[in-house]
Amino acid sequence: MNSFSQLQLAPNLAKAVAEMGYESMTPIQAQAIPVVLSGQDVMGAAQTGTGKTAAFSLPLLQRMLKHENTSTSPARHPVRALVLLPTRELADQVAQQVKMYAKYTQLRCAVVFGGMDMKPQTLELKRGVEVLVATPGRLLDHIEAKTAVLNQVEYVVLDEADRMLDIGFLPDLQRILSYLPKQRTTLLFSATFSPEIKRLASSYLQNPVTIEVARPNQTASTVTQLFYSVPDDDKRRALKQIVKQRGISQAFVFVNSKLGCARLARSLEREGLKTTALHGDKSQDERLKALESFKKGEVDLMVCTDVAARGLDIKDVPAVFNFDIPYNAEDYIHRIGRTGRAGAEGLAVSFASSSDTRLVTDIEKLTKQKIELLGFEFDDERPAGRINNGRRNWNDEDGDNGRPADAKPAARNRFVPPPKVHDPFFDRPYEAGAEPVSQSASSDQVLSSGRSISPNIKPKRNVAALFKTTEPG
Ligand code: AMP
Repeated sequence: MNSFSQLQLAPNLAKAVAEMGYESMTPIQAQAIPVVLSGQDVMGAAQTGTGKTAAFSLPLLQRMLKHENTSTSPARHPVRALVLLPTRELADQVAQQVKMYAKYTQLRCAVVFGGMDMKPQTLELKRGVEVLVATPGRLLDHIEAKTAVLNQVEYVVLDEADRMLDIGFLPDLQRILSYLPKQRTTLLFSATFSPEIKRLASSYLQNPVTIEVARPNQTASTVTQLFYSVPDDDKRRALKQIVKQRGISQAFVFVNSKLGCARLARSLEREGLKTTALHGDKSQDERLKALESFKKGEVDLMVCTDVAARGLDIKDVPAVFNFDIPYNAEDYIHRIGRTGRAGAEGLAVSFASSSDTRLVTDIEKLTKQKIELLGFEFDDERPAGRINNGRRNWNDEDGDNGRPADAKPAARNRFVPPPKVHDPFFDRPYEAGAEPVSQSASSDQVLSSGRSISPNIKPKRNVAALFKTTEPG
């Protein structure tokens, strides 16, 4: 067993770890902590949820203890460790963990991220902090305002580095790194080692020790993965049905765009599902509130984008929905990694429309598993104009072969063209000289010529009528 006691952590760190109730080190901790303690650079392939925050923060705090002091002078508390993360939530989460590990030391930790007033952050920085956790954009603001001085930084952590590059933070990272002393320890953590990540590492890390604990193309065997062929218009109904039928208490619902995220959350909320949304356009306050209410179990569905949800420390979500199939197959692994954690049973449901074939094939290739696209059987009557007339297309003798109750093979779907909406107006031959529809047209919409107009055309308001006043004189 990899016990923390074999690390010989300082008593004030060991006490904090004991309070966290950790029984043993996770694989990334067992591998990375001794390397970081020895002062080497690390390139770690580990996803959030593996315990990587403790893997870098415990040894860094241990090495910084030599600088610990009780002075109130800010000059005695310069930034010595800088942790960079792609999103505000991650930064907040990591800072909270670091603060817990450092709580019996005199080392101070602060977090700065965008979307929040700079003033309180500035005050905290001016008092002096040894560990600064930050998102790149806001850190640059503080560097420019001279509230963050980084010339005494000894340790840098680039956490979720692949995601930082995905978001386009490379120029910001390069600028920030140019302000730091060359003599330092640099740790880079990334879910994948893409060529870009390798380039970043070769530019900024010195002879790093590579540590890999979870292969990025693995999905947990405890997660049941279902793929349904569902047209875009029907996905919401399918989602509602599955949640209800399977009694799912909480789930993440992934979408590909911020706009789609807000829209879907609103419509699910309108349909009576307790829903919250998490995406980059929300204010920081709204995002933290959304996260809190989901963690407390006050909401059932968290609709989110990949960037917003990446790495959030929310455990034991019973189900994950891919409302949109991710553009990047690796995101599929990250998304469904939110369920079935620590041996628990999880369900991952993906909705693929006909335009998603290539994306589904990408997931097949990455996960090296054959994906069976299932048809979806709706419980209720479908509104007119949708494909696959629901279950009436299926015969009892189909034989389900153990498929979930809501599934039929997609190939059996029949396309039924939507019935045409008949508008009698368009049956009439063209008649010249029809007068404009007047304000006085009655509710059954009769033209002043006496000809009734289509119920599908809204009457225009007469401009004069818009100025009409009921006031005398
Ligand atoms: P991380 O991957 O750092 O975001 O950590 C994910 C979660 O694992 C956090 O809630 C940590 O508190 C928890 N954790 C970290 N190390 C351990 C450990 N050795 N044993 C159990 N839980 C841990």
